[in-house]
Amino acid sequence: MSQKIYTPRTANETLCLEYIMNRSNLSRADLASLTGLTKATVSGIVKKLIDDQLVIETGIGESSNVGGRKPINLQFNEKAGLSISIDVGYNYVNGLLSYLDGSEIATVKEKPIPLNEDTIKTYFSEIFSTFESVIPKTAYGVIGVVIAVHGPVFQGDILFTPHYNLDQIPFRKIAESLTSYPIYFENEANLSALGEYTFTSTSSSLICVNMHSGIGAGIVQNGRLQVGSHGTAGEIGHQIVVLDGTPCRCGNHGCLEMYAANMVCFDHFAEIKSMDYVNAIILREYYRNQDADALAVVAENVRYLSVGINNLVAHYDPEVIVLNSSLYWEIPEMISLLKESLHSHFAKDIILRNSPLQERATLLGGLVLNLQHFLAIEHLQLTESNL
Ligand SMILES: [Zn+2]
Repeated sequence: MSQKIYTPRTANETLCLEYIMNRSNLSRADLASLTGLTKATVSGIVKKLIDDQLVIETGIGESSNVGGRKPINLQFNEKAGLSISIDVGYNYVNGLLSYLDGSEIATVKEKPIPLNEDTIKTYFSEIFSTFESVIPKTAYGVIGVVIAVHGPVFQGDILFTPHYNLDQIPFRKIAESLTSYPIYFENEANLSALGEYTFTSTSSSLICVNMHSGIGAGIVQNGRLQVGSHGTAGEIGHQIVVLDGTPCRCGNHGCLEMYAANMVCFDHFAEIKSMDYVNAIILREYYRNQDADALAVVAENVRYLSVGINNLVAHYDPEVIVLNSSLYWEIPEMISLLKESLHSHFAKDIILRNSPLQERATLLGGLVLNLQHFLAIEHLQLTESNL
């Protein structure tokens, strides 16, 4: 099956497509007034986008004046192609095959323990073969494969993976031996931030704080990931909050994630209660019953995390901070406690909220990265209505 290849010809074409994708039901006249381009130029560009099957005409809009000709609305053709995202967690591998608006065609959830080169090969192979068996016919086929890892990535290469020591595994070689689609790697917290920015916000800047065994953040400004000069921007779990504190894997002492990671909170509670295992749901039940130990570990987590959030606000001044943490999801009162603990004048206008997408944030962020590469558009803010 031969696939089309899309190459945007001009910056104006990219601009028009960006408006069509980010706002629903625009007419050619709307597009001309938004972009400042002439109606003739817009018509030419829209014709090409329709010929390229990226834009479709969806019907008749409202006339702007009585008796005027009713305009035809334009819409991004989300069925023009497909995206594959794979999230390699420390004890799971999840895959998503979706259309270009994030609507799901198939998902795969693997629980590999332990993760090593052989299991990665097996799980990637299962994901690709499962998806290949259900791929529908589209104009462009699969536009790319984004693989999320829990570690910093710079210019497409994994720097290290501190939470599962997979540094020696040739991820790219394995993936390239199984598929011929373009392959991109990105840090999972960065992809979560792209997913949240694109599908749940209308703000120009957003930071997504992911809390699992460690704490990492993705920073998005006007749709673009801020990764820093070495790919390690957003490693906020390694900001020092206690001088000469607990030693951390990174080589420092007193890092935030040694005090405020979900795992630290669960382990601390398990130790107090002499329990083998604690997760967010178990802790939530004790918290609901006003157990004094549960209240204390929750208060401690909020106290340390508030230092980290305060520092984030001082450094980046974002409009929105989204928390992606099973702990804050199960005990949403912790968001209010966290807000109350932010005393700084700088934090008074910050929107602080839980992630609506949760584990889907990373996979949807993968879709956004695929779209950014495929369409050469950085600023995407789509609606979640079709998900
Ligand atoms: Zn550290």
